[in-house]
Amino acid sequence: MGSNQPTLLDRLRAFISKFLKALMPSQSPNASSPGSSAVEQPVVERQVIPRSDHNVSRALISEAAKKVLHRLNKSGYEAYLVGGGVRDILLGMRPKDFDVATNATPEQVHELFRNSRLIGRRFRIVHVVFGREIIEVTTFRGNALEQTEEDDTERRTNEHGRLLRDNIYGNQEEDALRRDFTVNALYYNIQDFSVIDFAGGVKDLEERRLKLIGDPETRYREDPVRMLRAIRFAAKMGFDLDPATEAPIRELAPLLEHIPPARLFDEVLKLLSAGYGEQTYDALNRYNLLAPLFPETVRAQQNGHSDGLIRQALQNTDARLAQGKSVTPYFMFAAMLWPALQAEWEKRQDDGEPVQPALHQAIAKVIGRQIQATAIPKRFSGPMKEIWELQMRLPRRQGKRAYQIMEHPRFRAAYDFLLIREQSGEIEPGLGQWWTQFQAADERGREQMLSELSGPTPRRKRRKRKPSNSASADNSGGE
Ligand code: ATP
Ligand code: MG
Repeated sequence: MGSNQPTLLDRLRAFISKFLKALMPSQSPNASSPGSSAVEQPVVERQVIPRSDHNVSRALISEAAKKVLHRLNKSGYEAYLVGGGVRDILLGMRPKDFDVATNATPEQVHELFRNSRLIGRRFRIVHVVFGREIIEVTTFRGNALEQTEEDDTERRTNEHGRLLRDNIYGNQEEDALRRDFTVNALYYNIQDFSVIDFAGGVKDLEERRLKLIGDPETRYREDPVRMLRAIRFAAKMGFDLDPATEAPIRELAPLLEHIPPARLFDEVLKLLSAGYGEQTYDALNRYNLLAPLFPETVRAQQNGHSDGLIRQALQNTDARLAQGKSVTPYFMFAAMLWPALQAEWEKRQDDGEPVQPALHQAIAKVIGRQIQATAIPKRFSGPMKEIWELQMRLPRRQGKRAYQIMEHPRFRAAYDFLLIREQSGEIEPGLGQWWTQFQAADERGREQMLSELSGPTPRRKRRKRKPSNSASADNSGGE
C-alpha cells in the first residue's frame, strides 16, 4: 500500500544518519591525539543478559565475594563481580579469585570494611581480606576521551605510551572500556542476577575469541603486560587471539623491557603456574615474548643449547597442577634458567676454570642478569641455587655423602630436578633410579647399595685419596 511520503522521509533519515556516521571517524583521531592515552572507543551497546539466559549461579561465587557485593549495595553503591570470576563461571571453569568493581571510591570501600587495606599507586585498589581469600575491589575507571587538565595528574603515560597512573574514576560503561579483553569486561549484578556486557564479551566467549577492547597497539603501549595476559588467557581458555589483537605483539614485545622486574616476576609465575606451562612457553617463544622475560634462556637457545629440560619441567608442572598438587616458583625458575646456567658454566670451564668455582661463578652471573629482567625474591633465588648446586653433589654418593645429601632441605627438589634432566635426555638415565631406590631402601639395603657403588672399603680408599680439602679433587665422581 505505502505512499511516497514515508519513503522520502526514510531516505532523508538514512541520508542524515550516513552523514553523521561519515563525520564520526574524522573526529575520533583528533580526540585521541598524541599525548593523550585515549583508547579508540568501540561502539558500545549495553547488553543485559537475564538470569534465565546465563549460567552464573550464586552458588559458584565465594561467600566472601558475595559479602562484599551485598555490603556495597546495601550502603547505596553500585557493585558488580567482574573479570575472571564472571568469565570463568560462564566458561564452566572454577574462578581463581573474585574481583569487584564499584562506584565507591577506594577510601569509601576501605571505610566500609574493617578487614581491608588500600594498596597500589599506579592503580589505587582495595583488598578486602577474608582469611586466605582476598577480594580485589576497584573503583570504576574513567573515560580517557574526556580527560581534563585536572585529570592529567591522575593519568600519566611515559614516552612509550605506557600508563604510569590511572586513577580517574568514571561510570560502569567507561570502566568496561578501560578493561583489557572483551571477555574480561563482563559484570555480574547480584541484585538482579544479570550479566552486563558492554564490549561484546559474551559473543567472544561463545566464539572462543580473545579480543582486546579498543585499538590493540594503543592498548599494548599503555600496558605491555597485556601482551602476556593475552598469551596466558588464550592458553588457559583454549581461545584464539583475534587477528587484530594478535598482529602487533611480535613487534611490540620489546616494550616489556620497560616494565618493572617485580611486576614481570609476578606475571611469569602466573604464566607458568596456570597449568598450561608448556603451551604458554611455546606461545611466548612464537611471539618474541620470551626474550624480555628470560633473555639468557633465549640466548642459550640461539647458541644451540637444548631447551628440552625446560619443556620436560613444564610438562611435569602441568601434570602436577592437574592433580591438584602445588609447584614452587624456585623450581620453575631453576628449570627456566638451566640452559643459560649450563652455557655459562661450560664457557667458564672451557676458559680453564675448575668445575666447582665455575659453577658458583656461573650461578652468580646468570641470576645477576636475570634479575634485571624479572625480579627473583631472595626466598626463591636461595633454593634455586641449592637445586643447581646439588646437581653436582647427587652423583657423589660414597660414604656418608648420600645420607648427608638426603638431609639437605632441598634434596627432594634437587632429586626431582635430576629426574627431569634424565627424562629430557640431557643425561643418561640411572642416577635418578639409584636415588629412588636408595630413598625406599632400609638401612641394610642402603649400605648394600653404597658398597656396590664403590667397592668393599669405600671410606678408607676415599680418605687416602683426599688429603686436602680441595674441592676439585672431588669431581672425579661427577658427570
Ligand atoms: P585471573 O584472576 O583468572 O588471572 P582476571 O581476568 O580476573 O584473571 P585479574 O588480573 O584478576 O585478571 O584482573 C581482574 C580484571 O581487571 C580483569 O579481568 C580485567 O578486566 C582488569 N584488568 C586486569 N589487568 C588489566 C590490565 N593490565 N589492563 C586492563 N584491564 C586489566
Ligand atoms: Mg582475577
